[in-house]
Amino acid sequence: MPAPLVIAMDGPAASGKSSVAREVAKRLGWLFVNTGNMYRAATWAALRDHLNPLDEDQVARAADSWNITCPIADGQCIVQLDGHDIEEELNNEKVNRAVSFVARVPAVRDRLVALQREIGRAQPVVMEGRDIGTVVFPDAVAKFYIDATEEVRARRRGLQGQTDTVSERDRIDSTRKTAPLIAAQDAVVIDSSHLSLDEVVTCVMNELRARGLIQPKA
Ligand code: C5P
Repeated sequence: MPAPLVIAMDGPAASGKSSVAREVAKRLGWLFVNTGNMYRAATWAALRDHLNPLDEDQVARAADSWNITCPIADGQCIVQLDGHDIEEELNNEKVNRAVSFVARVPAVRDRLVALQREIGRAQPVVMEGRDIGTVVFPDAVAKFYIDATEEVRARRRGLQGQTDTVSERDRIDSTRKTAPLIAAQDAVVIDSSHLSLDEVVTCVMNELRARGLIQPKA
């Protein structure tokens, strides 16, 4: 089986990695995959089922019953729960507060990592998340870790119309036992604090070009 064509884009909340990954995928004609939305869908399911997100055993027992899928339509990977489009629910306050607790449960991660690998093996993808370069695709053809200062990230989150505390989510994501948020040793780290989206995308494209992964003019 040929090695999957995956570009991994990891980093903390509101570092800008989603926008960068989406734009890089568009320029390459590859599929953009937002794995945060999958963990948000699991969290939405846990809240729908009236589970306590802090109760790891309860969440683990329910994880297998959630029917989370990611059909591809118009070149986009859409997260669905029980066949329904729930993207509008994924950024609500309750999900923001609970998602890092649900995402630390190994049974939840096992299911979603399997789904992410299935998608990444089926077509070339730019996949963004927290553990793509370290756990999901350690053999990704290129890995980027997009960072920014806490102050800048809090400001960007506010501009997205969100009021959640990104530092608290990052703390939980970085200190969990399973697949913590960390830059892969072979990731290119980009501090986007003082860079525009276009500048970060240019850094990424230059790196891909330098590695011979794309044509000189792509
Ligand atoms: O990317 P986004 O901020 O929407 O992710 C929401 C949450 O999902 C993260 O704070 C993290 O807890 C979890 N997540 C994860 N692993 C990923 C992607 C997201 O644990 N690959």
